[in-house]
Amino acid sequence: MSHVFPRHTKANLPTVSHGEGVYLYDKNGKQYFDGSGGAAVSCLGHGDRDVIDAIKAQLDTAAYAHTSFLTSQPAEELADKLIGLAPPNIDRVYFVSGGSEAVESALKLARQYFWEKGETKRKYFIARRQSYHGNTLAALATGGNEWRRAPFSPLMIETSHIAPCFDYRERKDDETLSEYALRAANELETEILRLGAENVIAFVAEPVVGATLGAVPPVEGYFKRIREICDQYGILLILDEVMCGMGRTGTMFASEQEGIGPDIVTIAKGLGAGYQPIGAMLCTAEIYSTIENGSGFFQHGHTYIGHPTACAASLTVVNKLVDHQLVERCAQMGEKLNTALRSTFSQHPHVGNIRGRGLFRGLEIVEDRESKRPFSPERAVHKKIKNAAMDAGLFCYPMGGTVDGVHGDHILLAPPFILDDSHIDEITDKLSIAIERGL
Ligand code: PLP
Repeated sequence: MSHVFPRHTKANLPTVSHGEGVYLYDKNGKQYFDGSGGAAVSCLGHGDRDVIDAIKAQLDTAAYAHTSFLTSQPAEELADKLIGLAPPNIDRVYFVSGGSEAVESALKLARQYFWEKGETKRKYFIARRQSYHGNTLAALATGGNEWRRAPFSPLMIETSHIAPCFDYRERKDDETLSEYALRAANELETEILRLGAENVIAFVAEPVVGATLGAVPPVEGYFKRIREICDQYGILLILDEVMCGMGRTGTMFASEQEGIGPDIVTIAKGLGAGYQPIGAMLCTAEIYSTIENGSGFFQHGHTYIGHPTACAASLTVVNKLVDHQLVERCAQMGEKLNTALRSTFSQHPHVGNIRGRGLFRGLEIVEDRESKRPFSPERAVHKKIKNAAMDAGLFCYPMGGTVDGVHGDHILLAPPFILDDSHIDEITDKLSIAIERGL
């Protein structure tokens, strides 16, 4: 009997044997195409020798050094590299061990920034209903996913939620895309005014929504208006790029495609590409200097921040993304995947919507395509499709849940950037089988 406490206590999962390129293998010798990169993590695929060698080399020098005593060359180099790639207003990098920690740090930094300025009344975050920002308590509170929050609801910090920018479900028939973008963004203004701008810390959003909806990009103009509102009312804009950042949508940061810069941005998954647990929170010079010239101490920290081995792995990942033009490759292969998904599924009676950017693509599975009627929660199909896909030798990431009374079944695809044309056929072939068998 196993003594591991698995997250899904009723699941009986196979044991991984090894990984190579775009495939993972279990102990029974079964091969799986890693069509979701785990959860949008494995951008370089598995068994990358350069990253493995960088980890080994770092272990041979100093595996770990506590940041109270020492900084490290990989952390310094990685920070410089990331700042060179980040939106222009971003100046500092705070390394953590994953996405939830990155978001938790961002929320606390935002609060401390105002506290340093004497604006201690500010206590509200505004986020969006269909969103996921992590599982630590403050990150969980900003996420809008009701079923994830339910057991912990008495422990949530003060957060209110507005509608996401979700064209497929939320745009009215008589609205143009730009009218819709404006209406959705203006919900933020209404909420700020309701709470009182002087009480609000920040607006938190994923530029491309991942784990709740399966790769929903914003409508053009939405984030420009969001940025304008944040500036007008003096609140911070925190963009959560834990899932959609690090090239996944075809640009290093997803926000580049919106033509705006955040005050704080979080990254994780693709940053370590699965080789080491690492995340980061990046902020503007203004925020950093407010702390530096104030208390001089960020009131937050974890034992493994700036872990040298994690930073060494990540530095090689980022160098490879840049030197091998893998982000550009992600954009090109993403277009091919999009075309293949559309030609395979756009007439499928149960595929309501195909969406995404780069190699970050989502399918919404519905009971009736014409009316967009979803399956009822009792008949939810996303997990059945995931299981059928595994039987067929494909990992795809299932998501579901009821928000605003509408159930959703979503499938996320986020394959490694190194895939080739034949792999695109493999994804669509296996996903077709999984959808037929899973419904
Ligand atoms: N933020 C976003 C947008 C995510 O998608 C996730 C994880 O899926 C997180 C935060 C939490 O990251 P982690 O699971 O590494 O703690």
